[in-house]
Amino acid sequence: MNPQTASRDEVRRFIVENRPVRGHWVRLEGAWRELRAHRDYPQPVRELLGQAVAASVLLAATLKFRGRLTLQLQGNGAVSLLVAQCTDDYRLRAVARFDEAAVAALPAGGASGETFRRLVGADGRFAVTVEADERNTRYQGIVPLSGDSLAASLEAYFSRSEQLPTRVLLAADGERGGGVLVQKLPQDAGTDESQMTEIWKQAEHGIEALSAEELLHCPVEELLGRGFAAHDMRLFRGTPVQFECRCSQGRVTSLLRALGPDEVRDVLREQGAVTVTCEFCHRPYRFEEGDVEALFEDGPDMGGNSTAVH
Ligand SMILES: [Zn+2]
Repeated sequence: MNPQTASRDEVRRFIVENRPVRGHWVRLEGAWRELRAHRDYPQPVRELLGQAVAASVLLAATLKFRGRLTLQLQGNGAVSLLVAQCTDDYRLRAVARFDEAAVAALPAGGASGETFRRLVGADGRFAVTVEADERNTRYQGIVPLSGDSLAASLEAYFSRSEQLPTRVLLAADGERGGGVLVQKLPQDAGTDESQMTEIWKQAEHGIEALSAEELLHCPVEELLGRGFAAHDMRLFRGTPVQFECRCSQGRVTSLLRALGPDEVRDVLREQGAVTVTCEFCHRPYRFEEGDVEALFEDGPDMGGNSTAVH
């Protein structure tokens, strides 16, 4: 890896020294540009997508698991579906489906609460699904999209599912995505309650005082220095984050088998070949007539019932 670019996309953990406050910080540059290179998202959707991608990295960093984490927004606003996935080793992909006309009708400017509400709609939901490799377990937490930002919804998710007071700041533009999250951990029996309350209040104010601009452009050391001026902070080494789609010939094969021979042969008749394009990376998978027949030669697929490319 080129050392000059190695640190551009990374997630880092930090703690307030000797206090039960921890956090994670993420910044995305090349990975963010690569992730959406195949698709031209209008600015408000791009911003929401970038925030969701940063949020998926922060969630993956916070929750201990081996496997993949999916953050999904679903609503009746201009964006009908948004999916951001991050693996435990920080390989990312994401996609958003949106209504062009509804997005075009949004007020200019972008990051306001009004824009957020119109993007996600009145009864949007926010789901976090973790598919863990070990024992093939899966769990899901769902909360309504609350407040006037994705960060507020994420805070609501944490207070409901993890029961840890959490503050989140997210930002994204055409070049970068970033986020920072701080959490108040359960304190030891001997900790002075009022002192702890004071420290947490300072941490919250520290986060609130940071601007999107700072989040996207300030070096992390400087950012934490501004946000937590009164405290000794310990910043741990960064872990690289990258864009990588998990689609493959094998997954698409499973998808087509799950659709069944009748449907797939219909498409073959109409179009001469079956082409499945990955929604995340736009890689096309083409099946000619012989390939389609080979799909269904061995009888029903016993290898699983994967019905989606993702
Ligand atoms: Zn793909």
